Amino acid sequence: MPFTSLGLSKEISRAVAERGYTEPTPIQQQAIPAALAGNDVLAGAQTGSGKTAGFTLPILHLLSDKSIKGPSEGRPPIRALILVPTRELAQQVEESIIDYGQHLKLNSMVMIGGVSINPQIQRLRSRVDILVATPGRLLDLSRQGQLKLKEVSRLVLDEADEMLDLGFLPDVEKILSSTP
Ligand code: AMP
Repeated sequence: MPFTSLGLSKEISRAVAERGYTEPTPIQQQAIPAALAGNDVLAGAQTGSGKTAGFTLPILHLLSDKSIKGPSEGRPPIRALILVPTRELAQQVEESIIDYGQHLKLNSMVMIGGVSINPQIQRLRSRVDILVATPGRLLDLSRQGQLKLKEVSRLVLDEADEMLDLGFLPDVEKILSSTP
C-alpha cells in the first residue's frame, strides 16, 4: 500500500516522502484511516513500529483541514493534546510533529516538568495548536489558570499503559475533565 493512498494532504505526504518513507507500517495502515474518519482508536504496537506517525499524521491533517472551521477571531486555541508519560517521549513526539508538519502552518509546544515553568507560561501566550505534555506539569499550569483546553478536539494518550504504571491515572482523569 503506498503512503499516498491513506488520504493525507499533499503537504503531509510530501514531508513523509522527504523522510524516505514510501509504505505505511502496519500500525499506520490501520490507525491513520480510522483516525481520519473521526473514530476513536485504541492501538497497541511496539516501539519502532511507527506508532508515533500513526497518531501525529492524522492530527496534522485534521488540524490543517481548512474546511473544518475554527474560531474566526483571535489566536487559535489549543486543539490537540498529546499526553505522554515521560519528558523524553514528549520531546520525541514533538520532533515528529515538527518533521511531518514542516510544510504546514501549525505550532506545537512541549510542556514537561523538571525545567523552569516561566518559559512555558510565556510560550502559552503565543499560538499553540498542538500541545505535547506530561500530566504533572500540565496540571500545575492548569491550576495556575495558564491553560485552556476547552477547544481540544483531538486527544492522544501515548503509552497509556506506562502512564497507568507510573500512577498518572488521577492526573489524567483531572486533565480529561477539563477537555470537551
Ligand atoms: P516509532 O515506533 O513511532 O518510535 O517509530 C520508529 C521509527 O520508525 C522512527 O524513527 C520513525 O521515523 C520511523 N518510521 C515511521 N514511519 C515509518 C515508515 N512508514 N517507514 C519507515 N520508517 C518509519
